Amino acid sequence: MASSDAEDALEQVHAQIRACRLCSLSQNRTRAVPGEGAAAADVMFVGEAPGGDEDRQGRPFVGPAGRLLTEQLKKIGIDRRNVFITNVVKCRPPGNRDPQPAEIEACRDHLLSQIALVNPKVICTLGRFAAQTLIDPRLSITRQHGNPRRMSGILYLPIYHPAAALHQARLIDALESDFRRLRALLDEELDDTPSSPRRAHA
Ligand code: URA
Repeated sequence: MASSDAEDALEQVHAQIRACRLCSLSQNRTRAVPGEGAAAADVMFVGEAPGGDEDRQGRPFVGPAGRLLTEQLKKIGIDRRNVFITNVVKCRPPGNRDPQPAEIEACRDHLLSQIALVNPKVICTLGRFAAQTLIDPRLSITRQHGNPRRMSGILYLPIYHPAAALHQARLIDALESDFRRLRALLDEELDDTPSSPRRAHA
């Protein structure tokens, strides 16, 4: 698909998400948070669910966890605008509780449409919910973080959620090592196209 067609199709999916009433999370949202970034991104990040900042702004990862994500990306030479960022569920669960299986199920087609349209080379799942939704329902993030798996031509890399590292200081080293792993995988996977999130040159 030409990139402007993919952008239009993605915008249509995002309009559907903003109008979605498939689960009860839609009743309490201020704004739905479809996701943002480059429609032709090589790398896609999938988090858990919007928090309060995201719900107010309608944008993913704009609170403290988002700042840590942006910082970690910068450390491996990637500008946040060159990746695509979304969540497993697109509306904030009340009080930031865990998303329920029925809510994840209701949102699944939105996420799968985004993956099909962006068609990334690497999908980095952030935390347990995204890894269990996209990779393996029994995946343990403690045991499996940093271990990539290729499925249907896409490389899936489960990593810690940045919010986990904000709450448990001992996880920051693991998070940094997960991002270094991502950098190494991208260096192996990506060709030299201009859209590639290659290492920024000093
Ligand atoms: N945590 C998430 O999982 N997603 C966001 O968008 C923000 C925080």
